[in-house]
Amino acid sequence: MSNSPSVLVTGGAGFLGSHLCDALLGEGYSVIAVDNLLTGRISNLEHLRNDGRFKFQQIDINEPFDCGRVEYVFHFASPASPVDYSIHGVETLKVGSFGTFNALDLARKYGAKYLVSSTSECYGDPLEHPQKETYWGHVNSIGPRSVYDEAKRFTEAVTMAYHRYYNVDTRIARIFNTYGPRMQINDGRVIPNFMKQALRGENLTIYGDGGQTRSFCYVSDEIDGFLRLAKSSEHLPVNIGNPTEFTILDCAKLVLAVTGSKSKIRHEALPQDDPKQRCPDISKAKALFSWEPRINLETGLKLSLEYFRKMTQEELQSRA
Ligand code: UDP
Repeated sequence: MSNSPSVLVTGGAGFLGSHLCDALLGEGYSVIAVDNLLTGRISNLEHLRNDGRFKFQQIDINEPFDCGRVEYVFHFASPASPVDYSIHGVETLKVGSFGTFNALDLARKYGAKYLVSSTSECYGDPLEHPQKETYWGHVNSIGPRSVYDEAKRFTEAVTMAYHRYYNVDTRIARIFNTYGPRMQINDGRVIPNFMKQALRGENLTIYGDGGQTRSFCYVSDEIDGFLRLAKSSEHLPVNIGNPTEFTILDCAKLVLAVTGSKSKIRHEALPQDDPKQRCPDISKAKALFSWEPRINLETGLKLSLEYFRKMTQEELQSRA
């Protein structure tokens, strides 16, 4: 590793973690990425293999670990799609609890700054709309999504406790739906599903009537938000998401338009506890560090198209 200051990214082989590694290298840091590769993929880091300022370690952060002195800990390790966290429910709860303690202990040991990825799922199926950081949420603590929602709410609680009791210099990003290259094609989330289905000419599966809403942030905007939050001194949670809200039906229509696909729409059962609406109030991020997203959904889908096309083709070839 070179003499540039070192930062750690847990979950560094994941969708957001790997983009964050790129951005931090771009900012001049040396980066250590750790990941147990449960849902992350080493191929997301392939392009960094020969970068002397980058190092990858396959470890499980649920066990205490020490990657050496770092100046910043970015704790991004967790399954994050509803399909992944329902398959890996216990692992999700463990990384949100044991993994978070271990990441915070490392930050405390080295006096490092710390930023953790939290989620709009802290708001559950929200009764306040759009969601401000001051909203406490409407979460089912025992439903199918609880393994993720409560893991992240616990993560926030531990993070605030290390800040209050041990004076660790912490930050909490509440992430809303984010999309772009390096998402797993089969992680079950709505944009990979719709893109894959549209590109294959299959029906787009809309769960329920498609009237539920989400607000989609393109990955480069999201990462820019993390970097700005990382440089700020705000310890309470900050929403980082795109405030333009779409129904899932409108999202499907946009995917059809961007891909030029003739696919039709098929309705399937709505999963239990699927939030009816979700939209961030980002006035806090705007006021604190002048952040707002710049890439709208149509542009972001166009920017992602080649990636999803390639992934769809690779998947078809691997089956042949
Ligand atoms: N969804 C859908 N079809 C799909 C995948 C998801 O209609 O093939 C819906 C899902 O029910 C939810 C929204 O799209 O209302 C976003 O789902 P996703 O899994 O991307 O993330 P969530 O926001 O629920 O965590």
